[in-house]
Amino acid sequence: MHDVDIFISGGGIAGLTAAAAFGHGGFSVLLADPAPPVADMRADGSDLRSTAFLQPARTLFEEIGLWEVLAPFAVPLDALRIVDTKGWPPEISETRTFEPTDLGEDSFGWNLPNWLIRREILRFAEAQTGIELALGTGFRSMLTRTREVRVTLTDGRALRARLVIGADGRASPVREAAGIAAHTIRYGQKALAFSASHPIPHGQISTEIYNRGGAFTTVPLPDHKGAPASAIVWMNAGPRAQALAALPTAEFDAQMTARACGLLGPMERIGDLRLWPVVTQTADRLTAERTALVAEAAHVLPPIGAQGLNTSLHDIAALYDLAKAAPEGLGTPAQLARYARSRERDIALRARSIDLFNRICQSGEPPIQALRSAGLRAAHGVAPLRRALMRAGLGTR
Ligand SMILES: Cc1cc2nc3c(=O)[nH]c(=O)nc-3n(C[C@H](O)[C@H](O)[C@H](O)COP(=O)(O)OP(=O)(O)OC[C@H]3O[C@@H](n4cnc5c(N)ncnc54)[C@H](O)[C@@H]3O)c2cc1C
Repeated sequence: MHDVDIFISGGGIAGLTAAAAFGHGGFSVLLADPAPPVADMRADGSDLRSTAFLQPARTLFEEIGLWEVLAPFAVPLDALRIVDTKGWPPEISETRTFEPTDLGEDSFGWNLPNWLIRREILRFAEAQTGIELALGTGFRSMLTRTREVRVTLTDGRALRARLVIGADGRASPVREAAGIAAHTIRYGQKALAFSASHPIPHGQISTEIYNRGGAFTTVPLPDHKGAPASAIVWMNAGPRAQALAALPTAEFDAQMTARACGLLGPMERIGDLRLWPVVTQTADRLTAERTALVAEAAHVLPPIGAQGLNTSLHDIAALYDLAKAAPEGLGTPAQLARYARSRERDIALRARSIDLFNRICQSGEPPIQALRSAGLRAAHGVAPLRRALMRAGLGTR
């Protein structure tokens, strides 16, 4: 007899979504996280990033009843504008806009602040009878057997589960306990993540502006105190990112406005910022005995094209679909092998493409800049290529 069907280590957005999905599917779930989710924008440790959920994420959320909870806060992304620039202050050399109507869709996706997503999924999970949340308690160790996993938590509690899901982030303790290694590529870059208000409306368009150091991305948010607002991810070489983060507000805002080529008018930062190291990291395997890795425990990608969490939701959807189709096979070698097979290629392809793309975006070398502009013109100008790229980015067929 097992205590629960599934133990989930990690209560980030991925772990909470996995709990909501499997709870919805009738599985009993225990989720543990030593750091209770911060569900208030102003609180210490709040996740100030936002997530642009792409179409397939909505399909999963709709299936498990989460979409109606998130939809009232979601800002649709009606177009993606790519701007290439050169020099400093940046001078625009190319602009191309990609439209979802080209693919017969109304929106590419929907943007929501991460702290708010946590708050809503947490409330949703708390209301489900099959889900127990152990917040403030971490995963400590596990002992796997053919038929079960014996898990010990940091408060000394022991339990038996049919499957352990490692959703415990880039330094995943479950991955380590399962003996799975991970490979990391570092770029010497850091991403500044924060929100900003601006006088020119974003028009529900997300904009990626390339210049040496990496992408500067604006993603539409709801208005802030009556002014249009956007979530910003600004990638830079590490020392430049640290120097920007230390600037007084007025100077920071002036640098940001210049970096955005004035496209949104004079910008003002709202609240704090966080610095995130930019890496590509992939786990050598997605599974071990009675164990599956999902999300950043399995793959970390540079924050370009909203691929990170969206790739994670593909993991959760794949694992959930397999479990739902054969609940008696939960955690068995056959089901885990199917999970690994269904995800390995997609993860490897996304990691390779975004790694290459980030290197090209990062470069300040004139020949690479010229290649980048030419690539943008070609990618946008040839309709089948443009549509194929958009489909690949969205993760749809
Ligand atoms: C600047 C930036 C912008 C981004 N924008 C986007 C975007 O627009 N779209 C997108 O799809 N992705 C985006 N991403 C990626 C996305 O934010 C991440 O993929 C996602 O937040 C990671 O979620 P996670 O649940 O896997 O990991 P985490 O949020 O890191 O959660 C892991 C959890 O595990 C817990 N944990 C640690 N140790 C233990 C333990 N011993 N026991 C139990 N739990 C433990 C931690 O406390 C934590 O809560 C962005 C990333 C960055 C850096």
